Amino acid sequence: MAKEENLECSFCGRKKSETDLLIAGMDAHICDKCIEQAHGIVEEEIAEAKSGNLSKELILKKPLEIKTFLDQYVIGQEETKKAMSVAVYNHYKRLLQPMNDENEVEIEKSNIVLVGETGTGKTLIARSIAKMLNVPFSIVDATVLTQAGYVGEDVESILSRLLQAADYDVAKAERGIVFIDEIDKIARKGDNPSITRDVSGEGVQQALLKLLEGAIVNVAPKGGRKHPEQKFIEVNTKDILFVAGGAFSGIDRIISKRLNMQAVGYGASLSEDKIDEDNLLQYIIPSDLKSFGLIPEIIGRLPVLSYMNPLDAETLRAILTEPKNSIIKQYAKLFSMDDVEFVINDGALQYIVDKAVEYKLGARGLRSLCEAILTDAMFELPSSDEKEFVVTKEYAEGKLTKTTLKKLRAAS
Ligand code: ADP
Repeated sequence: MAKEENLECSFCGRKKSETDLLIAGMDAHICDKCIEQAHGIVEEEIAEAKSGNLSKELILKKPLEIKTFLDQYVIGQEETKKAMSVAVYNHYKRLLQPMNDENEVEIEKSNIVLVGETGTGKTLIARSIAKMLNVPFSIVDATVLTQAGYVGEDVESILSRLLQAADYDVAKAERGIVFIDEIDKIARKGDNPSITRDVSGEGVQQALLKLLEGAIVNVAPKGGRKHPEQKFIEVNTKDILFVAGGAFSGIDRIISKRLNMQAVGYGASLSEDKIDEDNLLQYIIPSDLKSFGLIPEIIGRLPVLSYMNPLDAETLRAILTEPKNSIIKQYAKLFSMDDVEFVINDGALQYIVDKAVEYKLGARGLRSLCEAILTDAMFELPSSDEKEFVVTKEYAEGKLTKTTLKKLRAAS
């Protein structure tokens, strides 16, 4: 066996005396410097393999395929599904483009803002897209965000949730989708830029701007300020797709005013298409968001603007039965697990839709209505010998009392 002082690193040949540490293996030795170098190589390889995997995961789906996928889950909202499909396609195309060449045309981010009443499918669209792309997805409510230093959540908390959704895989989170709900609630109050302290308005918009633009942000992995001792993780928001949504209630008046002004202004032509007064949102343009109180910089960072149509009875009915995981299909599955065939007839479906419309419960109310009608059966049938359960209008009516309906309305 070699004498202690003759030992050397089998990788770089350094003598034991020239190293801080020499570790012995079966028939070889390795020094601290070589270990460090090897560790670096391993890290690099892993990172490369990961980004390779990510690119593979993000195999580009064409806009038509994205839209077809959305059609399985989201009823109607054709314009928005189309706009989203293109925006998402471009966004991921941008991600997969190697950015080595300095002269390369830089494709800008296509963050999206969706305007429409609550319960019309804004979150559903964003969530479905994330599901299709298999990227992490998180939802944040803009109303809880405040400027740093005020009570509430800092804007950075948006990224804590995304990190959690990505199981703390930073590379994955950096390609995720964030849905910012109720973006309209951080609009500047009034069109007066000189308001002194606007804790939840313009200040938050300014903070958000940084994230939307793309910045390296220190994120507290557990979120909030309750864990001051936690280490920060750096997250680059450059490639995160932000989808903002809001009801922007009252924006129809802004649109209507603008359209009327255009109609009487120079160049207004009588032969122009008649304005559909019942759905003014379809005419929305970015300047309407500005009049509503979003700062121009934010609007500029949300270049894709689309709108949601209100849900009419026909759409609500389709929502009950048509989506891939529609409410009715879910109940049928639940009953079938107890070997009970679940049948709901047209009259009952129509009755549920009518009540949702009458009590203004929207799509979210459909589920609560079904729950109220079906709970007794879901309680009793598993312990009975029944093999079939037919829901008729009369059955539904019998289960839905006025009190339940009032309660549902209060809860919605
Ligand atoms: P929003 O984000 O616009 O407030 P959501 O996307 O959260 O609304 O919609 C609430 C629920 O209503 C969804 O989970 C879904 O079950 C149903 N829903 C709403 N709109 C649609 C739609 N267009 N197609 C299918 N389901 C819908």
